Amino acid sequence: MSYDLAIRGGRVVSGAGSRYADVYITDGRVAAVTGEALTAANEVDAGGLLVFPGMIDTHVHFMDPGDATREDFPTGTTAAACAGVTTVVEHTHARPVRTVDELTAKLEHLQDRSVVDYGLAAHAWPDQIDQAAALWRAGVTYLKAFTCTTHGVPGFDAAHLLELFRRTAPVGARCLVHCEDESITGYWEESLRAAGRRDPAIVCEWRNREAEATATLVTSFLARWTGASVVVAHASNPEILRLVERERAEGADILIESCPQYFLLREEELLELGPFRKFTPPARARSSRDLERMWDALAERRIHHISSDHAPSTAEQKTGGDIWDVHFGLPGIDTTLPVLLDAAHAGKISYELVAETYAEAPARAYGLWPTKGSLRVGADADVVLVDPDRSWTVSEGDVISRAGWSPFAGRTLVGGAVATYLRGQLVAEDRRPVAGPGTGRFVAGAGAR
Ligand SMILES: [Zn+2]
Repeated sequence: MSYDLAIRGGRVVSGAGSRYADVYITDGRVAAVTGEALTAANEVDAGGLLVFPGMIDTHVHFMDPGDATREDFPTGTTAAACAGVTTVVEHTHARPVRTVDELTAKLEHLQDRSVVDYGLAAHAWPDQIDQAAALWRAGVTYLKAFTCTTHGVPGFDAAHLLELFRRTAPVGARCLVHCEDESITGYWEESLRAAGRRDPAIVCEWRNREAEATATLVTSFLARWTGASVVVAHASNPEILRLVERERAEGADILIESCPQYFLLREEELLELGPFRKFTPPARARSSRDLERMWDALAERRIHHISSDHAPSTAEQKTGGDIWDVHFGLPGIDTTLPVLLDAAHAGKISYELVAETYAEAPARAYGLWPTKGSLRVGADADVVLVDPDRSWTVSEGDVISRAGWSPFAGRTLVGGAVATYLRGQLVAEDRRPVAGPGTGRFVAGAGAR
C-alpha cells in the first residue's frame, strides 16, 4: 500500500522518548511510525529536524466574538499554526459561554474562522452553576471559574466553588480555576485606591502572593473533598506547587498549569514597563534563582502542563488608561513553543518534556488524548517540524497576534517550528500561514463523546 505523506528522517519526539523514524500519514491520521522504508505519494525531508506532535494550548483568549480589536479567531489561530500549535482551547471573558445556547451561538459564529482545531471552554457563573453538567455534555472542554472578580467575571466564593465541584465531580467535568482570593484582593484594592496610588507597583501589592496561595488552598481542599477534577490555572511560583501537592497526596485530582511569563519575567519589570507587565497573578521572581526554581519544578514534573494564557491587548490599549483601568494579560501564543524549545536547547528541560508539557499532558488532562497530543498510529496527523538550532531574536514585527508586541521581544531564542501540519495538511511553513480560516474544526470535549 502507499501512504499519502511520508515525513522522513526526523527525530520523532514524545514524552516517553525520541527516535529516528519516518512518520506516514493517510487520510489525515498517523498510519505508521517506523524505520522501515515504505512508499508514499508525497514526501517531506525532515533530516536534522525534530518531529513533534502538534502543540495543544488549552488556555487562550481570542476575544471572538467579544473584542476583535484585541484578537480574533482568524488572527489568533494563524499565530498558533505558525508557532506550531495545532489545537487551542479558547474562552472569552467579555462574551462568556454560560449556557448551552451561548455555546451553540459561539460555535455558529466560529464556523470557518479557525486555522487550527479548537475546543471551547465555558465560564462557570456563580448564579448559573446548574448549567455546568449540560455544558459539559454539550462538548465544552472544561469549565473556567474565577475565585475573584476579574475581567468583569464574578468571583466564586468557597460556598459557590463547593457547589460547582459537587456538580462537576459526578459527571467528570474538569474545572480550570483562576486562584486569587477575593477578600484579599478586594481589601488591597480598596486600600491602594484610598491611598490614591496609581503607580505600577499596585499590581503586585493588590494581586499578592497571599491571595494566590489562599485561593489555591481552598480550591485544592474542595477538590479533594468533593472528588472534582481541577486544574489550578497559571501557578506563578513554587510555593503554589507545594500547596497543591499536599492535597494531591491526600487524594485530590488536581493538576497545575503554568505559563512562560512565570519562567522568564521578573516582578520588578512592572516598575519600568507598567501596563506591559500587568497580568495576574503577576510575575513573582525576584532573582534569576527564582526563575531557575520554576524551570527545575517543570523538569521535576511538578508542573503538569504549560499554556500561554494568551490574553492580548494592543500597545495602544495597554497605554490607553491608568494602571487600574487597562486590561490584564499578555500575548503569548506566538512565543510559548519557542520559549520551551529555547529552554530545551539550553538544557534546562528536555525536548521530550516539551512534547509532554505542551502537547501530551494537556491532551490527557482535558480528554483529548490520544487523538490529539500524540503521534501514535490512529492519532490525528497534527505534526510540527522543529529546527532545534535555528536562532532568532523575537521582534514585534514577528508577532502575528493582533497585540503586535511581545513581552519576550529582544530575546534571542534557539529553536522554532518550520512546518505545521493539521490532520496531514500543511497549515504553516517558516512562520507563514499556508492555510486559511476554515481549515480548523471544533473538537468536542470528553463529556460529549
Ligand atoms: Zn486566562
